Amino acid sequence: MKEANLLAAINRPGRYLGEEFNAVVKDWESAAIRFALIFPDLYEIGMSHQGLQILYHIINNQPEFLAERCYCPGKDVEQLLRKTETPLTSLENGYPLANFDVLGFTLPYELCYTNILTVLHLAGIPFYTSDREEQHPLVIGGGACAMNPEPVADFFDAILLGDGEEAMVEIAETLAGAKKASREEKLALLEDIDGIYIPKYFSVKYNGVRIHSITRTQGKGGLPIRRRVISDLSNISHLKKPLVPNAKIVHDRLGIEVARGCTRGCRFCQAGITYRPVRERSPEQVLELAKAGIANSGFEELALLSLSTGDYSCIEQTLPPLMDMFVQKYISVAMPSMRVGTLTPAIMEQIKRVRKTGFTLAPEAGSDRLRRVINKGITEEDLLASCGDAFRLGWKLIKCYFMTGLPTETKDDIEAMAELARKILATGKATKDDPSNALTNIKKGGSPQVNISVGTFVPKPHTPFQWQRQITVDESMAKLDFLRKKLPKKNCNLKYHNPKVSWLEGVFSRGDRRLAQLLVAAWQKGARLDGWNENFNPELWRQAAEELQMDIDSYLRERDMEEILPWSHLTTGVSDQFLRDELAKAQEESYTPDCRYHQCQKCGLCDFKTLRPIVYNRNKTLAAATSCEPEKNAPEKEQHFKYMVHYSRRGKICYLGHLEILQLIFRTLHRAEIPVHYSKGFHPSPKVSFGPALPVGTESMAEYFIMDLFRPLTSLEEAQKRLNETLPRGLVVEKIEFSAQIPQKMLVDYQITLPAAITVEQQQKIDAFLAAERFPLCRIRKRKSKEVDIRPLITTIRGEDASTLHLQMRSESTLPGAKPIEVIEEILQLPKEESTKVKILKKKWHALQ
Ligand code: SF4
Repeated sequence: MKEANLLAAINRPGRYLGEEFNAVVKDWESAAIRFALIFPDLYEIGMSHQGLQILYHIINNQPEFLAERCYCPGKDVEQLLRKTETPLTSLENGYPLANFDVLGFTLPYELCYTNILTVLHLAGIPFYTSDREEQHPLVIGGGACAMNPEPVADFFDAILLGDGEEAMVEIAETLAGAKKASREEKLALLEDIDGIYIPKYFSVKYNGVRIHSITRTQGKGGLPIRRRVISDLSNISHLKKPLVPNAKIVHDRLGIEVARGCTRGCRFCQAGITYRPVRERSPEQVLELAKAGIANSGFEELALLSLSTGDYSCIEQTLPPLMDMFVQKYISVAMPSMRVGTLTPAIMEQIKRVRKTGFTLAPEAGSDRLRRVINKGITEEDLLASCGDAFRLGWKLIKCYFMTGLPTETKDDIEAMAELARKILATGKATKDDPSNALTNIKKGGSPQVNISVGTFVPKPHTPFQWQRQITVDESMAKLDFLRKKLPKKNCNLKYHNPKVSWLEGVFSRGDRRLAQLLVAAWQKGARLDGWNENFNPELWRQAAEELQMDIDSYLRERDMEEILPWSHLTTGVSDQFLRDELAKAQEESYTPDCRYHQCQKCGLCDFKTLRPIVYNRNKTLAAATSCEPEKNAPEKEQHFKYMVHYSRRGKICYLGHLEILQLIFRTLHRAEIPVHYSKGFHPSPKVSFGPALPVGTESMAEYFIMDLFRPLTSLEEAQKRLNETLPRGLVVEKIEFSAQIPQKMLVDYQITLPAAITVEQQQKIDAFLAAERFPLCRIRKRKSKEVDIRPLITTIRGEDASTLHLQMRSESTLPGAKPIEVIEEILQLPKEESTKVKILKKKWHALQ
């Protein structure tokens, strides 16, 4: 979105600016094939997603192809785009989505399906493939939900099953070689790519709630369509130059995928099947990617990603050199998906060297019995041992994730959740009281705490539990009520995922093609951004289903083992028999070991020629580890060198908020290797002081910050150059000077450009203002009104030319101030729609004695 008047009128404009550091803006005209990669949720979720970024860089690394990004807009922007008849555009070049050759949608979770419709509608592209014409882009999907894409199959021309890194390049090459071909011809060519599924080539017939048949009616090849799997991650280029968001996002950090696939074999887990086999990266590559990624981004946190990071065979060899590399730069290392039993005290000790990230366990079920049913492979003893280690190492809050509604669950299993919470608290208390643990945080203050999070179990396609029934919303609520009564009353909090959201997730998770019409009907009734609690409205879905006479609850029913499932024509490569055997083993509570460290469990996927698990030797010594010397960047005696950095802020970047600018500057200092001091304490942050916050939308030629360094800069010009090379577009360092006092009082000059020439009436208002002794401005904040006299704040206001004013204001850190736009609105009595068109430029300031 480029139009300033639109940006000025929306929530969180930082979502729509683009221009992130490391964003790739290629020449539109010279690209043979242009992809718009779309994440169907808000920017803060989509930018946290690794998969889209990986594909973005892979495509853009090919000189002849181009990829740009687009995220689902918020409801306010959707309305504004419709009102102004503005099409949805990409972030990089700002082209309408309809101008691209391919719209590549990520399908991350079921509750974003209506967002796909929002994006298509704003792009002016028909929902159904059958309604699209030659000029429309091809709409291709892929991602976690692709293994049962049937509820959205009618909206997609093609769907990629499985890993996208190689297939995306093949898609681009195929389409580049068929520029003049018709849509039909292009789809026929795409079908030759391994992992590509063309939904319209298949016909589905129904018999009541069941599927009668799925048959191929077009195209070639047999059934089922098999998921694409890349055999070795080390051959795939990873993110060395990750996108650095300007706005706040959910996972604001560098992610390094240390392994893909998990072979633990939890029977409820879809990813455990659909990302098999396990493929680890070499520890040398992990270190190299971490070093390059942090240097090129400035992130303060590194996350080692995989379905179960603790199972990465070289974790204990990789963590110490990683920490040595980053600890003095205050970069923390997070491992968001740890498993009980893999969190050894040695690993925990490493994690807490910089910042203690949350200590989260996922017992999933309350009792050992139910954990045997789901093949979790951990016992209460394991859980309590991990909690004891965490308490001893200084954590005082343990978070536990559970599911309710798992197959065979009884009241005893729910009661066991409460009992486990009680035992965790007792473990914490015993640690606190243990005199040998004198250094724990619990000892210093505060009681041990436990947070219990509970979600409703949703049976997923391609898992051993795919045939199981999902409990109803009422059953789920009753179980949660029962749990609430049983939980300890003190030091224990219960949080739960809305069972109604799980209900809808369950409908789509095992849904079929008939749900496309429900999606469109609910979207027409206003269903938007359903994954966000504040937007989710189950009544809309119920009404839409009633009008269509659909029994949507039937999608939660138990499935007959012999019936055709909506995804029966698609395969992960894991055999159907393996899933059936696993279900039988669940009923017997019998254990299936992990094929990463034990023998092959014969799931049917690997041929052991082209595809096999890739696991590095636990005892392998790391060449890279020994070469990663800790950086000695702090002198022994602490010294302070303060510099004032003057910078300008022009263009779209002025729509970022103050906190977003702070974060962006911290990361720039890191990328430019400026030796900044960090504060002490639990969350160290760079010692940088900023001038008064600039209102969102205001441009400035006169911003500053003061940085406190532990080493003097050898050359101010060189530091300025380094900073400018790593700042995002729109921010420019104009000057750096040694030593600086934060000015307490100053005069600030603004240039105000009005949307039209200053009228006689407006000039009279300015004259009246200047003649007045007082000029109160009434503000309402948190429902309280407060009056500020703005007259003493204004030293000058006069016309510079026909539509430009010069405004000079006093700014004092101890007195209430006013924003220039407030002043102009008040003096000229501008209506809101006019004031969004006013442009403000802060030109200069000078300190007052
Ligand atoms: S075939 Fe064997 S080794 Fe390969 S993923 Fe399946 S169980 Fe593991």
